[in-house]
Amino acid sequence: MGIVCIYCNVANPDKEKTCIACGAPLKKTTLVATKPEAVKPAIANKPAETVEAARKIATAYSSIWKAFFDAIIIAAVAFAIGLSGGIVNQPLFGVLGAALLGFAVSFTIKSGITTLISAPVGLLVGSIFCIMALILNLPAFLYPVFLTIWACITAVFGGTKIPYNVRTTWYKIRPLLGTTGGFVFGLMGMGVGLGLQVVYTNLAQFLQELG
Ligand SMILES: [Zn+2]
Repeated sequence: MGIVCIYCNVANPDKEKTCIACGAPLKKTTLVATKPEAVKPAIANKPAETVEAARKIATAYSSIWKAFFDAIIIAAVAFAIGLSGGIVNQPLFGVLGAALLGFAVSFTIKSGITTLISAPVGLLVGSIFCIMALILNLPAFLYPVFLTIWACITAVFGGTKIPYNVRTTWYKIRPLLGTTGGFVFGLMGMGVGLGLQVVYTNLAQFLQELG
């Protein structure tokens, strides 16, 4: 009884054509929520309100987990992009990149687990580009730009395409929160990066004076 949304993991009643949590179209043939025999008799005996209440709790629970995963990923990856911008002394690219990442993650609707993997993989690919940039001696602003581009591509990749106007309220607000979160954590990362860069510069200078 029910279809689990492949994007946000929320269990939906059979009659729903689109996900009650995120608005994604539900495919009845692909995923069915319960292992029928074991669970059904117990649920069938309970009054309808109890079942409905349990479903609401389950929905809220998986939504909270998903929001939690989103927040962790935005915080960590935005911090990393901000940090890269600070280290190479391109704070603006770091912070704007972090905000963009926050938007990409929060605008995209996909399952919590996929969210956890996506942007970090992009960060990894971006890092390979940064190493190439270092070898080729490319301009410094490209480091945060590479990280941003790849993290955003992987964050968006595999998400469902639900037009903004048919989304549920939470999924309409989410991009706003995500972008703000990305900006704030990018700012923090950038501050740390700038600090590291100043320490490094002074240390190098100090060592040069010694030698
Ligand atoms: Zn959904």
